[in-house]
Amino acid sequence: MSNQSSYFRRLFAKRTVFILVATVAIIFSSITANFAQVTSDKINDKEVSRTIAPVVSTESLSKHIKHLASSDLQGRRSGTEGCEKAAEYIIAQFKQYGVKPGSGEGFLQGFEFIAGVKQGQNTSLKAKSAGQDIEFQLSQDFQPYNFSSSGSVSGQIVLAGYGISAPGINYDDYSKIDVKDKIVMLLPFSPEGNNLHGKFADYLSARRKALTARERGAKAVIFISEADNLKDIRTRDDGNYSDAGIIALRMSKRAANELLKSAGKNVDGLQKSGSETGLGETITLDKVNLAINTEVVREVRKTYNVLGLLEGVDEKLKKEVIVLGAHYDHLGMGGAESLAVGVEGIHHGADDNASGTAGLLELARVLSENKQTLRRSVLFAAFSGEELGLLGSAHYVNKSPSFPLSQTVAMLNMDMIGRMKSDNLVVGGIGTSPQWKIMVEELNKARGFVLKLQEDGYGPSDHASFYGKDIPVLFFFTGVHDDYHKPTDTADRINVVSEQAIVTMVQEITTKLASQDARIEFTRAKVEGERRQMNSSFRVYVGSVPDYAEQVEGIKLSGVRPGSPAEKAGLKSGDVIVGLAGKTIKSVYDYTYVLQELQPNQTVEVIIMREGQKVTLQLTPTARQ
Ligand SMILES: [Zn+2]
Repeated sequence: MSNQSSYFRRLFAKRTVFILVATVAIIFSSITANFAQVTSDKINDKEVSRTIAPVVSTESLSKHIKHLASSDLQGRRSGTEGCEKAAEYIIAQFKQYGVKPGSGEGFLQGFEFIAGVKQGQNTSLKAKSAGQDIEFQLSQDFQPYNFSSSGSVSGQIVLAGYGISAPGINYDDYSKIDVKDKIVMLLPFSPEGNNLHGKFADYLSARRKALTARERGAKAVIFISEADNLKDIRTRDDGNYSDAGIIALRMSKRAANELLKSAGKNVDGLQKSGSETGLGETITLDKVNLAINTEVVREVRKTYNVLGLLEGVDEKLKKEVIVLGAHYDHLGMGGAESLAVGVEGIHHGADDNASGTAGLLELARVLSENKQTLRRSVLFAAFSGEELGLLGSAHYVNKSPSFPLSQTVAMLNMDMIGRMKSDNLVVGGIGTSPQWKIMVEELNKARGFVLKLQEDGYGPSDHASFYGKDIPVLFFFTGVHDDYHKPTDTADRINVVSEQAIVTMVQEITTKLASQDARIEFTRAKVEGERRQMNSSFRVYVGSVPDYAEQVEGIKLSGVRPGSPAEKAGLKSGDVIVGLAGKTIKSVYDYTYVLQELQPNQTVEVIIMREGQKVTLQLTPTARQ
C-alpha cells in the first residue's frame, strides 16, 4: 500500500462513477417499474406501442399491512381513535395516487352505530320484603343486560323455573303459570345446567328466555346468576345492543336468596326441585314487592367508510362503476367477536383485514397509473363496521351509494387474503354472474392457484350487502387460520408473495370489467341444499336473508332466495318482518328463535311492514335437507 492516497483517489473516482450509475439505474427502474411502461415492438415490421400494466408491489403491500396492523392503530375497532388513524392513512395514500374523493361527503362517508351500552344513574332495584326495605347494589347485586329495555316497573315476583318453553322437546316451564304483567324470576341455565351440547342447548341464551317471557306478557325478567357477587364473574355481551323489548336484569344468587327467603325457598333448593317436564310448582313471592328502574343508555358513535374514485375515461361508460372493497376495521382490544376468550390485548388484524385493505391501496395505485385503460369508473371502498355486522357496506348500499346501484357493474371484495396455504384460494360469488367462472379460470392459468370456487353471493363479508341488491360479486379469501380473531393475527405471519399474486388477479379482472364493451350479467346463485342456513338447530328452511345491519324494530330482509318458501310466501328484499307464528319479532334474535320453533310444511302467519303498510302473508317452511 505505499502510496495509498493516489490509490484511494483512483479508487474513489471509480466508485463515485459506479455509485452514480447505479443510483440512476435504480431510480429509473423503480420509476419504470411502477409506471405503465410503454414499449414498442415490431409486428409484421410495423412499429406498435404496447402498455405494460404497473405491477402490484410486495413491498408496498408489506408496508401497508405493517402500518395498519401496528400497535399504534390499536386493532382499528370502529368508532375508536385507532380506526380513525387508519382512515387518515388510507386517505393519504389515495391522495398520493391521485384518487379523487368517492362520496358526496368527500373521502369519508360517515354513519352512526351503537357502540355499547352503559347504565344511566337512575338505574335502581329496591324491594319491600316482609315489611323490610332492601336496596340492591348495581353491578354487585344486579345488572341490566345490554339488550334490556329502559323503564320502571314494580310488582310481585313469580318464579318460572328456568324460563324455558320447548314444546319440541316436551318441556315447558310456563305450562302451569300465568306471568302476565308479572316480574318473572328464572333459575340459571337449565335442568341440565349450562350444557352447551345438551337437549336445552338452544334454549340457554338469555335473549331467548327474555323473548319467551315477553311473549307471555311478563313486564320484566330477572336471571339469577350462580355468583353471589356479580363483580366476581366476567360477562361477555353478545355485541348486539338492540332492545329486546322487555326489562331484563342479571341478579346475584345472594340477592335472589334474600327475596326467596320470604317464601322459605332458596336457589339451590329450587334447582333440585325441578321436574323432567318443567316447573313442578307455581311460586309467587307474594310478601315481596319489587321496584325496578332501568336506564340503559345506548352509546351511539360515528365511524367512516373511506371511498376513493377513479373516473373512467369513456364519456358514456364512466357512469358505470366497479366497486373494489375491503373492510379496514377490526376488533380493537377484543370484545364479543374475539376468539381469544379471557385475553385482553390488541387484536392486530393483519390478515383480517389489513391484508385486504393493503390490496385495495395497491389496486388504487396501479390502476390510477394505468387509468387510460379504464373506460368505466372504479370506486375503492374501505368499509368500517364490518366486524359489527357489515354495517359500512350496508350503509353504502341502503343509504348512500356513490353511483346508482343499477349502474354498479360488479363488486369485488377482498377479506383475509394474506394467509394463503398451498396455493389454495377461495373465490366466492361465482354463481352471481355467468361470466365469472370462465373469467376467473382463464386468469388463473397464469397463476396456478388451487381454486375453491363457491357459488353463493351471500357470505360473512361486505360483498353480501351488494349481492342483496342484485349486483354480481366476487369474494377473495385465503381461509381461516388459528390466529383468526386473536391478538396473534400479526403482520409477520402474512404471506405477501401470494397476496401479490391474488391482488394482481383482482387488478386483471377489474381492468377487464372496466374496459370491455358489455357489462357482465347478473344471476341469482343457485345454492345447493340449505347449507347457508344460519345454524344447524333449524328443522326448517325458509330462504330469507336478514339484513343484520339495519337497526329497525323487527328484522329487515336484504333478500330472499330464488324458489324458497320465503319467495313463495311473497316476501321480498326490503320487507321488515314484525311478527311470525303469532310471536312479535323485534330483532334478528327473536327471528332466529322463532324460526327454530317452526315445523316443516306447517303454514304460519308472517306479518311484515312494507312501505309503511302492515301486510300478513302465509309462509310454509320446508324441511331442512
Ligand atoms: Zn374480516
